[in-house]
Amino acid sequence: MKIGVTLLASGSNGNCAAIHADGNTILVDCGISLRMLRQRMRETGVDESTIRAILVTHSHVDHTKGLDKASKCFGVPIFSAYETSQILKRDFPEMIPASILEVGGQFELSGFQIRSFPVEHDVTTVGYTLTRESTKIGYATDCGRATVPVEYNLRDCNTLVLESNYDVNMLVTSKRTWGLKQRICNGQGHLSNIQNSELLPRLLTTNTKNLILAHISHDCNQYDLALGTAKKTLTFLNRQDVFLDCGRREGPIPTVWC
Ligand SMILES: [Zn+2]
Ligand SMILES: [Zn+2]
Repeated sequence: MKIGVTLLASGSNGNCAAIHADGNTILVDCGISLRMLRQRMRETGVDESTIRAILVTHSHVDHTKGLDKASKCFGVPIFSAYETSQILKRDFPEMIPASILEVGGQFELSGFQIRSFPVEHDVTTVGYTLTRESTKIGYATDCGRATVPVEYNLRDCNTLVLESNYDVNMLVTSKRTWGLKQRICNGQGHLSNIQNSELLPRLLTTNTKNLILAHISHDCNQYDLALGTAKKTLTFLNRQDVFLDCGRREGPIPTVWC
């Protein structure tokens, strides 16, 4: 059975991914409006009636904007870490409370084995792996730095969605304040193109078929720059067989199948 991974939105203006197989779809984050979510699902042919749950990585608005309305509209549960659920309760008082996911814990939902793991960021954040019949998909954005749990959990994925947020030169020379620059690269912010590439030799295995770069910064990175850095690394690793793409802010990218 094939699993589809569709990045409906990726970047600081909204993140949402649909992971779907056999008439079951799990959303990871919902940082776009319900209207945009429905439109982008139609565009990519992912049937909204198959949504079974929404997994939340953390409480920042670019990951939660449409969460409340989407959960209600589709009548599906939200899963998050405890600290995230407390912030969601405050930000969306009308929302059905999120089910608590123990960080590092695992559960089964609609045929997917779902596991969360801790990711370094300036609020409590998790990444996810979803496994179905030995096919594993890994997802981590807003990842300040590579840690043992990140490496351990994201190794040996068939499809890896991994942040490639900023180019170091573009960040340093950007018009952002020094404080903001610090927040991005202090180990609790985001993963750079180089940090993404440094992780690849430790994550990719012969099972890895697809690499999707995510959460590309609009003013401190360029799609071509992020893709170029990863492509160079894949060539160096003699892994030109790995399909490479990056999520976009402007719209969904075609579904990757694994
Ligand atoms: Zn974010
Ligand atoms: Zn964030």
